[in-house]
Amino acid sequence: MASKSYLEQLNKRRTFAIISHPDAGKTTITEKVLLFGKALQKAGTVKGKKSGQHAKSDWMEMEKERGISVTTSVMQFPYHDHLVNLLDTPGHEDFSEDTYRTLTAVDSCLMVIDSAKGVEARTIKLMEVTRLRDTPIITFMNKLDRDTRDPVDLLDEVEDVLKIKCAPITWPIGMGKEFKGVYHLLRDETILYQTGQGHTIQDSRNIKGLDNPELDDAIGSYAQELREVLELVQGASHEFDQQEFLRGELTPVFFGTALGNFGVDHMLDGLVDWAPRPLNRQAEQREVSVEEEKFSGFVFKIQANMDPKHRDRIAFCRVVSGTFEKGMKLFQSRIGKDVRISDALTFMAGDREALDKAYAGDIIGLHNHGSIQIGDTFSEGETLKFTGIPNFAPELFKRIRLRDPLKQKQLLKGLIQLAEEGAVQVFRPLQNNDLIVGAVGVLQFDVVVARLKAEYKVEAIYEPVNVSTARWVYCDDAKKLDEFKRKAEVNLALDGGDNLTYIAPTMVNLSLAQERHPDIKFVQTREH
Ligand code: GDP
Repeated sequence: MASKSYLEQLNKRRTFAIISHPDAGKTTITEKVLLFGKALQKAGTVKGKKSGQHAKSDWMEMEKERGISVTTSVMQFPYHDHLVNLLDTPGHEDFSEDTYRTLTAVDSCLMVIDSAKGVEARTIKLMEVTRLRDTPIITFMNKLDRDTRDPVDLLDEVEDVLKIKCAPITWPIGMGKEFKGVYHLLRDETILYQTGQGHTIQDSRNIKGLDNPELDDAIGSYAQELREVLELVQGASHEFDQQEFLRGELTPVFFGTALGNFGVDHMLDGLVDWAPRPLNRQAEQREVSVEEEKFSGFVFKIQANMDPKHRDRIAFCRVVSGTFEKGMKLFQSRIGKDVRISDALTFMAGDREALDKAYAGDIIGLHNHGSIQIGDTFSEGETLKFTGIPNFAPELFKRIRLRDPLKQKQLLKGLIQLAEEGAVQVFRPLQNNDLIVGAVGVLQFDVVVARLKAEYKVEAIYEPVNVSTARWVYCDDAKKLDEFKRKAEVNLALDGGDNLTYIAPTMVNLSLAQERHPDIKFVQTREH
């Protein structure tokens, strides 16, 4: 049985990430969310002009630090009686593998939609990923201070395209220059929007009750319009049901403007009230309950340290169960050894701090000198391997070659380490000495060459290669696998972790190979 104090820590925690299409407002929301977190931390209250002032200068400080992505990768902040962990996902599409893996480390997601644009491509893709684990989704319809699409249309589109039921929690009144605020369906109150307060926490003006004449005084004819629309909306839309939300079948929807810092707090209230506390996780060996007080956790991301004062790499580890304490000895399952962690990092509201204690749901940063890989599990002695941390088949390929051929060993070492980080994938064909780099997005290629030069002192260049897709291959029958290896050797390669892969010059070639070898499994994602 877990102790009362441990359960208290657990129940307080919410760990989430934001999914959105570029430009929908993820960065802006993150800033506002931290404004609430930091202001609360300093002043202990949301309201009051003074705390707003504070928050403004903190925000500018953060802005300055933005280049240092380690500090903004994970942010922990208090909100009311809770402690929230927000995991940032890289905005650029080229780093989507990193995004996908980050989504395995959260318990809920905030989906941000640009209300002028509706559901966009990348949101669809990211929602597919959250579906793999039925992650609960909260929705924020952003940019109501602009001319947007009709809110009823927006909900319909989310339901149709993303196949999730929508339960509006707030409803917008007007839009663009005429944006008046929102009506909160559960609290039965109207919260009025005031412009020009984006960088501070607003003293909001609330009007209780829909039939309150104050409402007519405040927003004129919009009041009557609101009453009529709401009748329609309440008849046609879904009511909020927490169980359906937790199963990933229904999303509570909030409206607002991140830039105007309006509505973000309504969303945060929903997050701490309804989103799950840290959840149990499945390991190959057994399910690990979050209530177990023994420590366990897995690495979902490794990042080169952008801070030039710290040239190491940071492994981000999601705590699944128990408590982490400074100086603790942890067992690293993959290599079967104990390691002492004396200098883990925590991520309090954007600052990098040395860590004393962390609980299930938190993220800790471990200094990595090359011995930690994505997917690694740490525990207090038990051999565990958490499942579901994916590697995606790359879609772009180039042959990489050295300018100075004497440094082949350095190049291979660099590539394999970058592959371990998940920065890129590397393939070594069985039949020749080529090194083929595979990426999900084009930017990754440039990053690899720049990092090889800076970190491994090798100058490499790319050449085109006749590969258009790759699949990891498996077969339980050793004899059949051997036969396949003989017949398909020209197309086989080993990846950075020595896993067998089929690299195909064309999609047609791949289909033919799959037809010819029905006993071989060709898979598009590989679990670490
Ligand atoms: P990200 O790419 O999703 O991180 O989006 P950003 O937060 O960087 O926002 C993209 C652009 O939209 C920026 O110019 C923001 O200032 C702007 N933006 C974000 N939220 C709002 C909003 O609520 N209203 C308006 N008018 N602009 C917004």
